[in-house]
Amino acid sequence: MSFAFLSTFPVWQGLLIALGVVVAMEATAYAVHRWVMHGPLGWGWHASHHAPRTGLFERNDLYAVVFALLAIGLFTAGALGPVWAWYVGLGTTLYGILYFIAHDGLVHQRWPFRIVPKSGYLQRLYQAHRLHHAVDGRDGCVSFGFLYAPPVRVLKARLRRHHPRGVRDPEDVPELRSGG
Ligand SMILES: [Zn+2]
Ligand SMILES: [Zn+2]
Repeated sequence: MSFAFLSTFPVWQGLLIALGVVVAMEATAYAVHRWVMHGPLGWGWHASHHAPRTGLFERNDLYAVVFALLAIGLFTAGALGPVWAWYVGLGTTLYGILYFIAHDGLVHQRWPFRIVPKSGYLQRLYQAHRLHHAVDGRDGCVSFGFLYAPPVRVLKARLRRHHPRGVRDPEDVPELRSGG
């Protein structure tokens, strides 16, 4: 396989496209997570992610397969036709890697080590997604993004509004224990 076709397009422009796609993918992932995966259409696959995992995989992983196929299609299109499509595929792939590190790795520990961010933005991202999982079922959840998270106190206030009678036991979600 040759990457000679890439030399017909300025690399810096390609990398800018890829960066823009990473940002656009977070917006897309937010929308898909909120309105498709937590909607009647997509909950069938996503429900497995809101239940305890029984094996190595969950049905929800099929969403990652769909996005991987999309990236492969874009790489192929870029190699055969417009080169910018290759960089769109690159951005999609980069987003997939960041998504895996932040969501499957940091929050859900689907890798063989345990890192819990104790400060800064990564802690906020970690806690925000744990609050996404503080609700059983598909309704009334908060924090649908994977790389961008609103401040934790905003999410807690939103959770309280959605569930005046409380959600999970703070034993399960220590983020709920402290005030704010
Ligand atoms: Zn969800
Ligand atoms: Zn999750």
